[in-house]
Amino acid sequence: MIQEQVRSVQERIRAACAAVGRDPSEVTLIAVSKTKPVPLLTEAYDAGCREFGENKVQEIMDKYDQLPPDIHWHMIGHLQRNKVKYIVDKVTMIHSVDSLRLAEAIDHEAGRKGCVVPVLLEVNVAEEDTKFGLKVEEVLPLCETLDGFSNLRVMGLMTIAPFVADPEENRPVFRKLKKLSVDISHKSFNNITMSVLSMGMTNDFEVAVQEGATLVRVGTAIFGERDYGATV
Ligand SMILES: *Cc1c(COP(=O)(O)O)cnc(C)c1O
Repeated sequence: MIQEQVRSVQERIRAACAAVGRDPSEVTLIAVSKTKPVPLLTEAYDAGCREFGENKVQEIMDKYDQLPPDIHWHMIGHLQRNKVKYIVDKVTMIHSVDSLRLAEAIDHEAGRKGCVVPVLLEVNVAEEDTKFGLKVEEVLPLCETLDGFSNLRVMGLMTIAPFVADPEENRPVFRKLKKLSVDISHKSFNNITMSVLSMGMTNDFEVAVQEGATLVRVGTAIFGERDYGATV
């Protein structure tokens, strides 16, 4: 069942690319497996998934030890500074950098472990009170500071668009994130690139792909609805 759903999501990504003349190889599907038990992740793995997204440090650590080592783990949830040390050398990318203090903690812990961590800056494009993330106007000044960091590499931007009935409503949000990334890529930073745009979830990933997403984070369409009452 999961295999069919992975195929179906991949097919929809291809169709969204075709609609706007994008090469589907530019878009990577991240299977968002938060709250889901290991056997379901194994099914997704067997269906070819190698990129998995989780939003809790403890859950990444537990699953990391139980699943094959060629999986790339993406930290997509709000990250507390005191927990950075547990995952800094386990994750392939942290999508949720939303403050200078968090970036400093990541740089520091990565330095101690001797690694360089690819990160994305999370932008609260729609300025929702309930969401974490930088304001659009805070992103460029933060880039100027982070350009000098040696153990953290800003690769692009991430946003969580509002929950809407019609995904078309989020098109302006995705467009705004894309424009911000283009604007920043025109500044000549030494260490910062804007090659990654992490946007689009189950309800709106096709619109996000049409607007330039390079990473889409899809949970429900692959694994089904989440039950937050269940233990992992
Ligand atoms: C849960 C989550 C997703 C996946 O959401 P679905 O609607 O289930 O696809 C994507 N991104 C983030 C940051 C999430 O927390």
